[in-house]
Amino acid sequence: MTYQTLETLRFDNRFIHELPADPETENYCRQVMRACYSFVKPTKVSQPQLIAYAKEVAEILNLTDEECESPDFEQVFSGNRMLKGMTPYATCYGGHQFGHWAGQLGDGRAINLGEVINQQGERWVLQLKGAGQTPYSRRADGLAVLRSSVREFLCSEAMYHLGIPTTRALSLTLTGEEIVRDMFYDGNPKLELGAVVCRVAPSFTRFGNFQIFSARRETDVLQQLVDYTIRTDFPHLGEPSPEVYLNWFHEVCQRTAELIVHWMRVGFVHGVMNTDNMSILGLTIDYGPYGWLDNYSSDWTPNTTDAEGRRYCFGNQSHIAHWNLAQLAQTIYPLIEKAEPLQSILDSYVKEFERGWRKMMSQKLGLNTFEPATDETLVTELLAILQLVETDMTIFYRQLALIDTEVESSSNINGVTLMEPIMDAYYQPTQLTNDNVKRINNWICSYIERVRHAGISNETRRMRMNSINPNYVLRNYMAQLAIDKAEQGDNSMINELLELLRYPYDEQSKKQEYAAKRPEWARHRAGCSMLSCSS
Ligand code: AMP
Ligand code: MG
Repeated sequence: MTYQTLETLRFDNRFIHELPADPETENYCRQVMRACYSFVKPTKVSQPQLIAYAKEVAEILNLTDEECESPDFEQVFSGNRMLKGMTPYATCYGGHQFGHWAGQLGDGRAINLGEVINQQGERWVLQLKGAGQTPYSRRADGLAVLRSSVREFLCSEAMYHLGIPTTRALSLTLTGEEIVRDMFYDGNPKLELGAVVCRVAPSFTRFGNFQIFSARRETDVLQQLVDYTIRTDFPHLGEPSPEVYLNWFHEVCQRTAELIVHWMRVGFVHGVMNTDNMSILGLTIDYGPYGWLDNYSSDWTPNTTDAEGRRYCFGNQSHIAHWNLAQLAQTIYPLIEKAEPLQSILDSYVKEFERGWRKMMSQKLGLNTFEPATDETLVTELLAILQLVETDMTIFYRQLALIDTEVESSSNINGVTLMEPIMDAYYQPTQLTNDNVKRINNWICSYIERVRHAGISNETRRMRMNSINPNYVLRNYMAQLAIDKAEQGDNSMINELLELLRYPYDEQSKKQEYAAKRPEWARHRAGCSMLSCSS
């Protein structure tokens, strides 16, 4: 492979070449009609300082470490300097927020720099988040604080290494500016450090990018964007036609189902699954008030804005994805004008999610397949015992792998010995009453029986389970500790976590503290258990 320098990166900005632009080039907030994007330049910053970069993403762009560590790099990825071939723009989109149509939203704090074609011929869009106001900023400043940028940077890369579709993060840069933020919107504003993340993805197009045109009855522009998306990101579907639109919608449903199954596998809660935060490629996008389950709880949400309705809680994510897909179906209806096939594809999402979820659950348990006759009850009871007492999800599955299924289970059915390996997963051992212990033991016995019946050895099962049940996830308190340090000028923990999360399925002997339960102090601390949309 030949490496590139910043100067030799090859740009081919197809989105702006093929789709209609907003003719207005002044940067002020407005409604933008009949256009997919507006040209806008990032706001210059006073003192850019690179905090971290992801070498794997640099590699996608064929950039060396040396190039990433050069003074030019932080100038470019803070938005201070444009490279030859970059033509920055912000896209126009709408969306349903918390179930209500919100009208035009758009890239209010994201600016696309251009599309790089790498050595392998792949197309990757570069996008700065937090680079200043755009025509879509509404009443906000277009900026991002260090806290939210650290969270986006680390989680994007953590997701990638877990094997979950996601937008990527190339770099995290301080801007040298200070920004006023009222973190919980409760009248306590404070000054925070400004930062910019450079995100990288094949496309940042959201359901909302299509919705805005159907809401405005701009069907011709809608069709242009759909055709463009199919030709660019779904070329295997063939030339756009009503039939291809249906196949495309089907693929979007499938990808979305797969994505949510992954989130359920690792205990990830997105926190704001508005239709403008749904990627058309089925990527995890827009890391805001997201969170990771420590103790398993299906109705947990990290987002304080959603604390009452819990629309976007862990257990509701598949249902919400389905709701969002229904909005997308309505959006593209004018291009198809037949409701029945759209409805049946939408229905198939439910079946596909269910199938994927069952398969994933059986894999988490190290089984060969999901056998409805036995596993329906096994999994239902598992989810019940996980919520019976406070049980750490991540630790539970890792430790479950250690249970010996090659011994006769009946010998110690009444003792705690059977539970021994999973004791680490319990937050409050006093909650383990005799009845609870009995119920958990009963479940372990049926699990052992199930595994023995299938003839799976300890070794095979452990290998399988440890390759799908992570040992390390970006627990909320871990990100917060890295942020606390970075706010004091010490960026070491950001890089330490980035390295840790490169190998989430391994046992890293010097890093076992990060595989432990959430510490008690983090139970109610802001940033660890509660987050706002400004996160
Ligand atoms: P989110 O809830 O972060 O997905 O954002 C919803 C909408 O608000 C999007 O159109 C964002 O671009 C916009 N937005 C969020 N934060 C800001 C900000 N600080 N400045 C400008 N626009 C923002
Ligand atoms: Mg968003």
